[in-house]
Amino acid sequence: MILDQLQGRLDALQRDGLRRARRTLESPCGPAAQVDGARLLSFCSNDYLGLANEPALIDAACAGARAWGVGSGASHLVSGHLGPHAALEQRLAEFTGFARALLFSTGYMANLGIVPALVGRGDAVFADRLNHASLIDAVQLSRADSQRYPHADLAALERLLAASRANRKLILTDAVFSMDGDLAPLPGLLELAERFDAWLVVDDAHGFGVLGAQGRGSLAHFEMPAASRVVYMGTLGKAAGAAGAFVAGDRTVIEWLQQHARTYIFTTAGSPAIACALSASLELIANSDCRRNRLRQLAAQLRDGLAGSRWQLLPSPTAIQPVIIGDNHAALRVAAALYERGLWVPAIRPPTVPRGTARLRVSLTAAHQPQDLARLVDALRDLE
Ligand SMILES: *Cc1c(COP(=O)(O)O)cnc(C)c1O
Repeated sequence: MILDQLQGRLDALQRDGLRRARRTLESPCGPAAQVDGARLLSFCSNDYLGLANEPALIDAACAGARAWGVGSGASHLVSGHLGPHAALEQRLAEFTGFARALLFSTGYMANLGIVPALVGRGDAVFADRLNHASLIDAVQLSRADSQRYPHADLAALERLLAASRANRKLILTDAVFSMDGDLAPLPGLLELAERFDAWLVVDDAHGFGVLGAQGRGSLAHFEMPAASRVVYMGTLGKAAGAAGAFVAGDRTVIEWLQQHARTYIFTTAGSPAIACALSASLELIANSDCRRNRLRQLAAQLRDGLAGSRWQLLPSPTAIQPVIIGDNHAALRVAAALYERGLWVPAIRPPTVPRGTARLRVSLTAAHQPQDLARLVDALRDLE
């Protein structure tokens, strides 16, 4: 009975073009993917710098596993905080310019930990409408009053802040919007946070490693100093090429999170071998200007290649280049037609993006070659 109900709802997802299927890769992460024995050119991964399969990181992970083992065995506050974790936190703090950093197992968990630790009942969170799902869930978990402002609209946010009687206020935003590729107006957000005495929590999942001098992230992109009311979250499974996340900030706020973020406290610390790989990754990131230049050139090549075509790109300056289609089924059809030509581009549909804005999310990496982009442009032109 209850299973029939579920099956009915699964059938409805299928009808609406919303059922999601996985493909199993028979190759490591990279532009050349093997699926069902076929070779595909992939534009799906968030491995922006092409580090997920980088020999120096693999070596560091192997050496780390030999020296420290594979598992940490316990949560950080019990006995799972090993030398490689401490060293990585130190490096992340130095790299981002904050006093301290704290490691989390994933970005999703970091967000679920930060927001409820800082605000609760009687407080208010001011959130950009296009924020990532993990930030939306974090607000719900906090039980704070949720106020969503139109995407990147500082004037609307200012009105909400001015009208608020909440005890504590927290402004919450993606730094680079994950399905649009554009940047939040971070200097304006910080100015409002200062004026209304609010926290500013910045999720830089797609900016860390990619934007700013030496890839130090979106705050560095805007040349913003490490302000004490800013809580900066970066993830380590995208540009950094491995897994995990961190929060950086003022010493006091990081100590508070160590004491109160439940997704930090009640979970096993990440693998020390991965922490070793990530320390190696940070060094590579800092020295990867050529990879970041490559990314910019590839984005320009795609934009130039599709200019004047019916394919409508959003104004994104980053590695995330969405082609807006609109209808779910239409987006799936274009993705399927590309797939038949050996090009793997994901069709992103609601609830990941607002209804009526289904899109192809072209994700570029430094491991792509100009001829890869030429293939994608030619195929899209061909499908016009
Ligand atoms: C991917 C992503 C996360 C989640 O990070 P994981 O480490 O993959 O759990 C959080 N926020 C944004 C904006 C993301 O794109």
